[in-house]
Amino acid sequence: MAIRTDFSLLIGGKLEQSARHLDVIDPALGTVFARCPAADRGDLDRAVSAARGAFPAWRARPFAERAALVKQLSQRLREHQQNLAELLTREQGKPLAQSVAEIDRGAAQSDGMVGIEIPVEVIADDADKHIELRYRPLGVVGIITPWNAPVNLALGPLVSALYTGNTVVLKPSPYTPLATLKVGEILREVFPAGVVNILAGGDELGAAMTAHPHIDKISFTGSVATGKKVLASAAATLKRVTLELGGNDPAIVLDDVDAKAVAKKIFFASFVNSGQVCMAIKRIYAHENIYGELCDALVEEAKKAKVGNGLDPGTELGPVQNKMQYDKVVGIIEDTKKAGATFLAGGEIPPGPGYFLPPTLVTNIADDSRLVQEEQFGPIVPILKFTDVDDAVRRANDTRYGLSGSVWSKDVKRGSEIAARLEVGTAWVNQHRTTSAFVPFGGAKESGLGRQYSALGLKSYMEPEVVSVAKR
Ligand code: NAD
Repeated sequence: MAIRTDFSLLIGGKLEQSARHLDVIDPALGTVFARCPAADRGDLDRAVSAARGAFPAWRARPFAERAALVKQLSQRLREHQQNLAELLTREQGKPLAQSVAEIDRGAAQSDGMVGIEIPVEVIADDADKHIELRYRPLGVVGIITPWNAPVNLALGPLVSALYTGNTVVLKPSPYTPLATLKVGEILREVFPAGVVNILAGGDELGAAMTAHPHIDKISFTGSVATGKKVLASAAATLKRVTLELGGNDPAIVLDDVDAKAVAKKIFFASFVNSGQVCMAIKRIYAHENIYGELCDALVEEAKKAKVGNGLDPGTELGPVQNKMQYDKVVGIIEDTKKAGATFLAGGEIPPGPGYFLPPTLVTNIADDSRLVQEEQFGPIVPILKFTDVDDAVRRANDTRYGLSGSVWSKDVKRGSEIAARLEVGTAWVNQHRTTSAFVPFGGAKESGLGRQYSALGLKSYMEPEVVSVAKR
């Protein structure tokens, strides 16, 4: 099949080619299926100056006008949903229905965010003084995204930045730049030239963004290791940063659950997108009374799940997105085998082509093993037995990650009390992975810095400014 090349960078309202390019691999086949232009340092400088140039007029527009344009964007995304979703599945690997859902979710969250008000807050107002807190946009926001949900993870920060009056330079992952570049073509039709610029490029382009003297904030989604580099680099110019990093989410399953019913939900929250979700369940702690039943029910789900090319109807789990991640997950499977753990499902490594791995469930594994300690970010999950709830909470918290976690129980009050003891940004009860435009999301500990979504998240794209007036 011919290699697709119908992709462009978006700089200052123009669709551009460049001297360099990125090859993009279809992870279901393991072969290159598309090629797109790759930006260099000169392109970055031009994009940043276009964004700076567009900033004064964009910030001067009222919130309502900026909201109306964001709504046009989500409308257009829905109109282009099918084409975008097919491209997303080809570059990312996830089943087509989930790509459709990713675009839907991105559009819905965008619409939700622009309904949130950021009013001027009056701190004091009496005969002597008037003190108020206002929020003003920061300037140019650099957005850097990963490869697991490229459209949704771009739209969250993009819409937050634009709605609050900033202009943007956005860089998708070099593994999955294509759907984002196509979203750029839609953005170009909706927003004034320069307000949004999209540059595909490698890690070095991300590093150049974090060091760029004329970018005011970095909104980064990716791994903990890169997040630390971003923070260190941004320190030189004291850029504002939001870091949405990795997780190692625990799910604590109490002794009163209906094991079969919760297994369905827990399986999905663990293995959706083949485990490549920051807030996927990555460790399952099961009370000894329901442990056997829960294991059986999870194994049943694993055996039913159809693994295959995301474009094939009926596929529930696609491939791992790239070779580097595939090798990492295979390494964890091999280490886990060497450690003598029990594989209840999966564990075998198919011959290929494509980066496919079966959903794999592991028991009898030590708390200090790689699988329990590291973020696996792939289709392998440990099930760990506990007797005492305090011990389960201690083990769940015994990690440098702190993105999210969940507690499962028929007793919602008891579940909520235990959930509140998890050291995470979001603790769910009887659910996992539910987010919305109105609820802050972000990581505790090394899972991140700051929050996205909600008024709290939007304000992180703005500088608080006190206006203090002496009336006499
Ligand atoms: P990554 O850190 O390797 O790359 C993310 C992005 O950073 C890419 O665009 C990459 O080109 C860029 N980059 C690489 N080096 C850089 C540098 N030195 N300076 C600036 N940018 C640089 O992450 P990944 O492998 O693409 O994504 C997977 C990770 O993302 C997982 O850990 C996952 O949990 C995390 N993630 C977190 C969230 C969240 O909301 N918390 C959401 C999705 C994914």
